[in-house]
Amino acid sequence: MDHIAGLCCVKCEKTFSREDVEYVCPECGDEGILDVIYDYDRIASDFNRENLAQDPRRNIWRYEKLLPIQPGTPHPPLSIGWTPLYRSLRLGKHFGLKSLYLKDDGRNPTASLKDRASAVGVCQALSQKRPMISTASTGNAASSLAGICASVGLECVIFVPESAPPAKISQLLVFGAKVFAVKGTYDDAFDLCLRACAEYGWYCRNTGYNPYMAEGKKTVSLEICEGLEFDVPDWILVSAGDGCITDGVGKGLWDLKSLGFIDRLPRIAAVQSNESAAIYNAWKAGTEKIEPVKATTLADSISVNMPRDGVKALRAVRKTNGVMVTVEDEAILSAGRLLGKMAGVFAEPAGAAPLAGMISLMDQGTITPEDRVALIVSGNGLKDAAGASRGAGEPVQVQPNGSDLESALQSVGLIS
Ligand SMILES: *Cc1c(COP(=O)(O)O)cnc(C)c1O
Ligand SMILES: [Zn+2]
Repeated sequence: MDHIAGLCCVKCEKTFSREDVEYVCPECGDEGILDVIYDYDRIASDFNRENLAQDPRRNIWRYEKLLPIQPGTPHPPLSIGWTPLYRSLRLGKHFGLKSLYLKDDGRNPTASLKDRASAVGVCQALSQKRPMISTASTGNAASSLAGICASVGLECVIFVPESAPPAKISQLLVFGAKVFAVKGTYDDAFDLCLRACAEYGWYCRNTGYNPYMAEGKKTVSLEICEGLEFDVPDWILVSAGDGCITDGVGKGLWDLKSLGFIDRLPRIAAVQSNESAAIYNAWKAGTEKIEPVKATTLADSISVNMPRDGVKALRAVRKTNGVMVTVEDEAILSAGRLLGKMAGVFAEPAGAAPLAGMISLMDQGTITPEDRVALIVSGNGLKDAAGASRGAGEPVQVQPNGSDLESALQSVGLIS
């Protein structure tokens, strides 16, 4: 794969050839997260805006030249990526914004953005002829890996915290994964998965450990930019748990800038719940040293004690002159209801968090009404319907014979 120049450790900044490393830096261990370095000159020799526009593929493989995939590796048959980018006039108007875009990644095959990363993980396992792949996950990475594995007949082993929402666990079981509910947190599941992979030789998809996951996730920012014909927005807002999506968004923008597809970088705003704010705390303190927190947010997909990709996320935010912001869980839930009511997009709490972050940044004056803003809705609300609809109210009960229809309609103000 000559379009990859090497893998660079975020900690010691040494670069390794792809053949010499599997996951993390051999010298720094688990903290030595690796970043894939591309040879942009070589890529540019046969990849440009014109031939991209001619590519008929409506999925992430149209960006194959920017992905760490061995040529000839079969792609999973599921349709991954190329999710809708809506311009939401109603929601934009509500906030006095001229251009507000929603990237609805809940429209991926397993209903979250994680499919972008899992697809790359599955390709890696297939090209290395590994019989088994495993991941720890707050839920979506797992259900996504399980679905994509099912589509190609690869076995997978999943470790989730026992508190993962039931719909995500149902997905796993229906996709035929071997599922282990860990009596502990996501962080406990993460460590157990690493141990099992090392012991049994399984391919490990863990976020912030496997260097290729951010590469898959970056396709979301490639698509946002291509969807806007490379006339980039001023802001891209994303929710952050481990920080891998944030890192990926930054990486995609960097790729496009390096190839001359875009001439400036949109600013990334990464949003965390104030009840799971480890990356934000480091941003606020102006350091790269991430201290673990005790995460309690109800936005399960961004509930992380010790973010594994925090350093790369911080660098992505800083490199784009972006910001980090925290929001309360109540604000996340209310943003979710607003997305539903004003745009018809049903988001799980982590998918609604960027809107909550936007509201807060507009209040601070950081985002202004003239700005063009894109929000990444990273997961579908059906993933955690109970969480997502909290505070949305209850239906009005009526008798089938219509005896109380009038009073029922009056009770919600439909008639007087
Ligand atoms: C995983 C996930 C996130 C957070 O991504 P990180 O890479 O952990 O920061 C946000 N939203 C949804 C729906 C997710 O599944
Ligand atoms: Zn290192």
